[in-house]
Amino acid sequence: MKKIAVIGAGTMGNGIAHVFSQHGFPVNLVDLHPAQLEKAMGTIGKNLDRQVQKGSVTAEEKQQTLQRIKPVADLQSGVAGSDLIVEAVSENAEIKLNIFRELDQHARPDAILASNTSSISITRIAAATSHPSRVIGMHFMNPVPVMKLVEVINGYATSTSVTHTVTEIARQLDKVPCVVNDYPGFIANRILMPMINEAIISLHEGVAGVEAIDMVMKLGMAHPMGPLQLADFIGLDICLSILKVLHEGFGNPKYAPSPLLVNMVNAGFLGVKSGEGFYKYSPGSRELRVSERFL
Ligand code: NAD
Repeated sequence: MKKIAVIGAGTMGNGIAHVFSQHGFPVNLVDLHPAQLEKAMGTIGKNLDRQVQKGSVTAEEKQQTLQRIKPVADLQSGVAGSDLIVEAVSENAEIKLNIFRELDQHARPDAILASNTSSISITRIAAATSHPSRVIGMHFMNPVPVMKLVEVINGYATSTSVTHTVTEIARQLDKVPCVVNDYPGFIANRILMPMINEAIISLHEGVAGVEAIDMVMKLGMAHPMGPLQLADFIGLDICLSILKVLHEGFGNPKYAPSPLLVNMVNAGFLGVKSGEGFYKYSPGSRELRVSERFL
């Protein structure tokens, strides 16, 4: 593996580009929106500054990492010549299927095509291409530079050699790969999202407030972050789409998304990325304040 392309420069895409580049891979970071690319490069710079302050990266490594990432606004030129392409665009099946159709045409025939999807079937994504054996899930966790896990998802037709190559690359990035099969939510979100949904349902029913719910899970279960804060961090729109996939995929009402979650997403209260969810966020501040709507 020599050359990487990451498609989508949002929360996850910038982290994935950061980690590949930090480990010496040249990366093309592709997004439809030039403003998103600019913002992503700024975020990567800030995250590298934090690593320099902690002493895990030198100032020279920071510069080299930034230099190895090339922002590209055009998919075709962005993926040309890449050995591995990691798609990290919005969690929307139609958008992803269209991108994989394009990759089928413009990527090198031997390139591995990975998706960072949280829940959309890898088998379905792979079926949009003419070589489904080279399509795989490479599910990084947020924040990518910090979290060790990469959930590697085998689609129905993924070849063993592709799985082997992807797990090896994950190790080269100093991550720990866990290989799972392609069923709704894989493992991470099949277990995490029902917990987040139950926390939102408990809030909606008035069982407890935002802080109490999060505190119970932090102090009682040793979770580093409560489920409502985690939902804000992941993005409430992403949580909702994953729950819809679980609900539809298993046909089981236990996965039905909380109506409060649906309302919040419809109203644009998406958590950290929109500035407000269960908590309110101000740029530059690390203080955690419960949104007035839940006081
Ligand atoms: P995001 O909304 O922060 O970013 C998505 C990016 O995709 C945006 O920059 C958007 O401009 C870009 N985009 C949309 N359509 C595009 C197209 N056709 N071509 C190129 N770029 C396009 O989303 P995110 O939170 O980074 O999530 C990305 C993927 O990662 C999703 O599949 C999500 O489920 C998954 N994921 C998210 C998290 C999380 O905590 N947010 C964790 C693991 C996996």
